[in-house]
Amino acid sequence: MKKKLFNLFVLLVLFLSGGIVNAQDTYPESGKMEPNMSEFWLPQPEIVTPGNIMTNSAPSDAIVLFDGKDLSAWVNSKDGRSAGWTVNNNGTFTVKKDVGDIQTKESFENFQLHIEWCIPKDIAGSSQSRGNSGIFLQNKYELQILDNYNNKTYSNGQAGSIYKQTRPLVNAMRPPGEWNVYDVIYTAPIFKDDGSYRMPPHITVLHNGVLIQNNTTILGTTTYIGFPKVVKHGAGPIRLQSHGDASKPISFRNIWIRKL
Ligand code: MG
Repeated sequence: MKKKLFNLFVLLVLFLSGGIVNAQDTYPESGKMEPNMSEFWLPQPEIVTPGNIMTNSAPSDAIVLFDGKDLSAWVNSKDGRSAGWTVNNNGTFTVKKDVGDIQTKESFENFQLHIEWCIPKDIAGSSQSRGNSGIFLQNKYELQILDNYNNKTYSNGQAGSIYKQTRPLVNAMRPPGEWNVYDVIYTAPIFKDDGSYRMPPHITVLHNGVLIQNNTTILGTTTYIGFPKVVKHGAGPIRLQSHGDASKPISFRNIWIRKL
């Protein structure tokens, strides 16, 4: 009798302390989700004004992905043909929204990536519809590009976020018309035979020389609706996003990568 009472007591304590997990505590089915269910607005990252760092030349062992002349290192993601974005005569290129995303011809595992991007000075729009682009690492995981200089959005979707996952530590944006720099150190995932992560991908990002992602664990794919999914993959290209928002397209320059 005493033992029965004790067992009942243990069950009661477990129940009250949440030790018995209710099935409803798990994530909702992604089919029933709305976009805003995975958007977290607060707290907003603190604003930090970046210092004046010099960039623009690649180290000797880097693969130059854009040197100001042409997009020969890139193809269109839809059909694998020429990239089709606009190369300007000032050493930059601009997203061409109607031709879609572009990606590197070469695939990568672990790397250090340097990439510069500029929001047009006369950008309009708000939240996610203001200079939206992005860098998909290994074609899977989006490091967000957006104008968040005086533009609030959900923090896990702002510039420097791992989209819909991890907000940047701070907001180090330069104003529209000035060049932003991402320096990325990326460690590719290792998979088990069953397709789950033995080691998930990790990412460190400096935005204009300011640390915004510190060896952050990437939880899975970065999707607009739903939660991250673990999808087994090998080496993959760097893909640049042509986002469908109505604001003016952004530009890029000086892109290089070092395999690690
Ligand atoms: Mg984006």
